Amino acid sequence: MDTTEPSIFSRIVAREIPADVVFESERIIAFRDIAPQAPVHVLVVPKTEAYRDVTELAAGDPGLLAEVVAVARDIADEHSDGDFRLVFNTGERAGQTVFHVHAHVLAGGLEEGTLG
Ligand code: 5GP
Repeated sequence: MDTTEPSIFSRIVAREIPADVVFESERIIAFRDIAPQAPVHVLVVPKTEAYRDVTELAAGDPGLLAEVVAVARDIADEHSDGDFRLVFNTGERAGQTVFHVHAHVLAGGLEEGTLG
C-alpha cells in the first residue's frame, strides 16, 4: 500500500488548494508564493513529484529543468522588467521546506537591492 501523501504542490496542481496560478502547461505549473519576498515571487513547479530537489531533477530529466528555466524567463518578462533571481533551496539546512522540486522566481525591486 502506498501511504505517501501528495505534496502541497501536487494538491495545488489538483486544485484541492487554491493558488494564484500565472502559468500552466502539460508538465509545469507556476503560481504566486503565499509569502512573497519580492514584488514578483512566483514558484515554478514541475507537476511530477518524482524529484525532491533540483539536483534530482537535473539528473533525472534535464529537459524538464530547462523548461522550468524557460518558464521563469517568460514570467520575469511578463510580470517585471525581465531581470530575475532563480533560487532552488536544496536541503533543509538551506531553507527547503517543500520536498517537491520548485524554483523561486524573484523579480521587481532589484534596483533597490531588496533581493539580498
Ligand atoms: P522552500 O522553502 O521549500 O524553498 O519554498 C517553499 C515555498 O512555498 C515557500 O516560499 C512558501 O511560502 C511557499 N508555500 C508553502 N505553502 C504554500 C501554499 O499553500 N501556497 C503557495 N502559493 N505557496 C506556498
